[in-house]
Amino acid sequence: MIDVETLAGQVLEGKRAAYSRAITLVESSRADHRAQARELLAELTPRAGGAVRIGISGVPGVGKSTFIEALGAWLVEQGKRVGVLAVDPSSVRTGGSVLGDKTRMSSLAVSPQAFIRPSPSAGTLGGVARATSQAMTVLEAAGHDVVLVETVGVGQSEITVAGMVDTFLFLTIARTGDQLQGIKKGILEIADVICVNKADGEWAQEAEVTAKELAGALRLVYAGTNGWVPPVVTASALEHTGIDRVWNRLIRHREFMGARGLAEKRANQQLEFTWALVRDELDQRLRTDEQVAAVRAEVREAVLAGAMPAATAADRILQAYDSRS
Ligand code: GDP
Repeated sequence: MIDVETLAGQVLEGKRAAYSRAITLVESSRADHRAQARELLAELTPRAGGAVRIGISGVPGVGKSTFIEALGAWLVEQGKRVGVLAVDPSSVRTGGSVLGDKTRMSSLAVSPQAFIRPSPSAGTLGGVARATSQAMTVLEAAGHDVVLVETVGVGQSEITVAGMVDTFLFLTIARTGDQLQGIKKGILEIADVICVNKADGEWAQEAEVTAKELAGALRLVYAGTNGWVPPVVTASALEHTGIDRVWNRLIRHREFMGARGLAEKRANQQLEFTWALVRDELDQRLRTDEQVAAVRAEVREAVLAGAMPAATAADRILQAYDSRS
C-alpha cells in the first residue's frame, strides 16, 4: 500500500527515488493505482506548472535523441534541472519503447540534474498521453525547470504532444525533398520552431540552404498574419553547435506568447485534456466491461464474416455496455 501523502512530500523535496515511483504510479492502469494517482496529483498539481515544456519531434534518424542529449547537457550546464519524457505510439503496440530509452541518451542519463523516462505503454495513445502529461506534473512538482517531451513522425502522436507542451520544436535535416512536403503538410500547424539538424561537416552548407528555403516557405505561408512565424535555425547535435541558438528561439516563442498567452494556452490544454481523460476512461471501461465481453466474440465473428455491418455491430456493443447493471 502506498502512502500517498508521504510520497507527495518526498516528491516535493525533489527526491529522485520518490518522483520515479510517483511516475510509475501515474503510469499504472490498475484501478486502485489510478485512484491513488489522482490523490497524488491533487497534492502535486498546485506545485507544478513551473517548467518550460518543450515538445520535440522529427522522423526516425533525424537526431532526436542526440539532440536531446546535447540540449539537455547544455541546460544542465546552465544550472537547470531537466526531465525527458516520451510519447511513442509504437509502445502501444509492442509494449516497449524506443523513445526516451536511456541507452540512447547515455551521458544525460547519468547526470544527477537530469531524469529520463521512456514512453509508457499504457494500452492506447490516450493512455500514453495521460501518463506522460501526469508524469510532467510530477517532474515539475519535484523542481524540474525544463521538461522535454520527445515524439516521432507526423500524425496523432505529435498532435497529442503539442497538446501538453508550451512550445513545439520540429527537427529536420537537409537534402530530403520530402521533408519540405512533410513540413508543408502536417507540421506547420504545430511547429513553433524548426531546426535543421546535422549542420556539420560536408552537410553544413546544405543545412544552411535548407534552412533558408524553409524560412522562405514559412514566410509565404504566414504572410499577412501578425502572429508568430516559426523561425528556422541550424544546429549540429553531434558537435553541440547551435544548441544555444535553438534554445534562444524556443524562449523567444515563449516570450511572444507572454504570461497571459501561455496561461491561456495551458488552460485550454487542460480543458482538452479533461475530455481526453474522459475518453480514455470510457475506453478502459469498454475494455473491461463484462457485458461487452459477453458479446465481443460474436460481434467480431459476424463482422469478419461480413454478416453484420459495422454500424450494427457498434450498436450491439453499445447496447451491451448500456445494459450493465
Ligand atoms: P533519432 O532516431 O531521431 O533519435 O536519431 P538519433 O539521435 O538516434 O541519430 C541518428 C543518427 O544520426 C545517429 O547515427 C547519430 O549519431 C546521427 N546524428 C545525430 N545528430 C547528428 C548531427 O548533428 N550530425 C551528424 N553528422 N550526425 C548526427
